[in-house]
Amino acid sequence: MPHRARAALRRTAAAGIALAAAAALVVGAHPGSAQAAGAPLRAQRVEYFPGSGAEPRRVTVPVDTPAPTARRRPAPAGATPAVRPLGRTGPVTGRLDLVVMGDGYTADEQGRFAADAEEKLDAIFGIEPYRSYRGLFNVWLVNAVSHESGVSGDPTADVAKDTALGARFFCDDLERLLCVDTDKVADYAALAPDADIVFVLANSAKYGGAGYSAGDLPPGSPFHGVATMSSGNDRSYLIGAHELGHSIGHLADEYQYAGYGAYPSADEPAEANLTLLRDPGATKWYRWLGAQDPTGSVVGTYEGGGYYETGIYRPTETSIMRSLTSTEFNVVGREAMIAGFYADADALTSSVPTSRPVGKGRRISVRLAPLTGLADLELTWYVDGRPVPWATGDLSVTPHGLGVHGRGHEITATVTDRTTAVRDPAVRALTSDSLTWTVR
Ligand SMILES: [Zn+2]
Repeated sequence: MPHRARAALRRTAAAGIALAAAAALVVGAHPGSAQAAGAPLRAQRVEYFPGSGAEPRRVTVPVDTPAPTARRRPAPAGATPAVRPLGRTGPVTGRLDLVVMGDGYTADEQGRFAADAEEKLDAIFGIEPYRSYRGLFNVWLVNAVSHESGVSGDPTADVAKDTALGARFFCDDLERLLCVDTDKVADYAALAPDADIVFVLANSAKYGGAGYSAGDLPPGSPFHGVATMSSGNDRSYLIGAHELGHSIGHLADEYQYAGYGAYPSADEPAEANLTLLRDPGATKWYRWLGAQDPTGSVVGTYEGGGYYETGIYRPTETSIMRSLTSTEFNVVGREAMIAGFYADADALTSSVPTSRPVGKGRRISVRLAPLTGLADLELTWYVDGRPVPWATGDLSVTPHGLGVHGRGHEITATVTDRTTAVRDPAVRALTSDSLTWTVR
């Protein structure tokens, strides 16, 4: 992760804001997320999706509340967890690594887990901007083998299953809240070459899921977020798509709760999709004003969001960050997602190391991530910082071919995403990536 440090800083800032909001929100909540590093978590804040058009909400649930009669047994003999790439597009250092694991799948059901995972991922990656930027993701499937088929709480609260990851509906007595043992998830995720985001698919047709953001995971968690969803429900993929909005795009929830009233802070929210400013021309999304949005409305300022009803504004009437009845990010969300993709992934790689000088006749080949649709990669070559127009777009050059005849010159390949889904120059700069070789 070349930009991990910067991304981590941004995440920390975003988590801090979210936690502050949560403290104001969750009445009687155990301060699980705010515990000192190293202390065991007693409670976790998760996002809950009741379904049937009801808006999501955030709740705090106790940790370590196994289903009533769940038995703890060692993993079945010979059931060594296996990892395989489902879609590998590049090196883990230049990609967002998405790890998918199943719960409530027995050894005999691992094939079906793989099929379920593919179906769910295809649905998520059917949504923009995931669709266009799938080439910045590696996807890893981890086989977690459960003793029993299905998960606890399906169909009723009294059902207890012995499963690898402890997934359970009726978490904290909320039927559609599908919690999971995040420590076990972390253990399995560590089997993958890298894990930025984790999806847990519960073997169930019952609608449900949950989202754990970075600030809600145990201290030191290696990944940005965990989303759970049921495998056999055709709407549950939207939970994963929404959760990545938080963990990759650092987007705020655009929904509000009845009775929460006015936004309680005078500080402008850090997230790209909320503002305190009613004047559309003064907002951080002013570049998008008047744009016809994929969610169906025109970009402006719409009051309500970040759980509060007044004094806070979102860019569009609805979006996937407001309600799972919407299957689209608004343009502000799309731009933030693209910024998040490039904060952790690069579109440019080369098998020719930049750490050693290259000869004048040495062929330098580069690869561009296989992006489509909204993405518009432009590859430019430079000699000592001056562009070489005739080589634009060439995936393979030699210093000689670029007109270099002496020693010590620098050859640079730069890729920039010219996508029209980005209007902010700061985000455009994030999309740019360079490699430089010295000629010997
Ligand atoms: Zn959310």
